[in-house]
Amino acid sequence: MKLKRGKPKVKKVLTTCCWCDKRIGENQEMFALGCKKRPGVDISKYEGGVMPVTIVTIEKTIWAVVPSSDSDARKEGKDFMFTLCSEECGWALKEALEEEKDIGDLLSSAELIIN
Ligand SMILES: [Zn+2]
Repeated sequence: MKLKRGKPKVKKVLTTCCWCDKRIGENQEMFALGCKKRPGVDISKYEGGVMPVTIVTIEKTIWAVVPSSDSDARKEGKDFMFTLCSEECGWALKEALEEEKDIGDLLSSAELIIN
């Protein structure tokens, strides 16, 4: 089997803070940044998997989870989501995303979700 270098599994992305790389335990509070894509942006090839998002300002590629097109998350307008360990990481990520020009073409809005 050929390994796709650098591409993490969905489960790993869902249990790791995309901002500070901290592992999120099962009993820990979970935070997510739910993002709505711009109309016309095609992310269908990432559906049911993970999507790389490069943040040039911090020279880092982070991973977003893209729910399948028939999922509740997508129906609620959350086209992709970032997993976060804390509110602080959530705000830091949101701020970084807002500074990125390339991401501005992809992202229409982002909302911090606290579970
Ligand atoms: Zn974090």
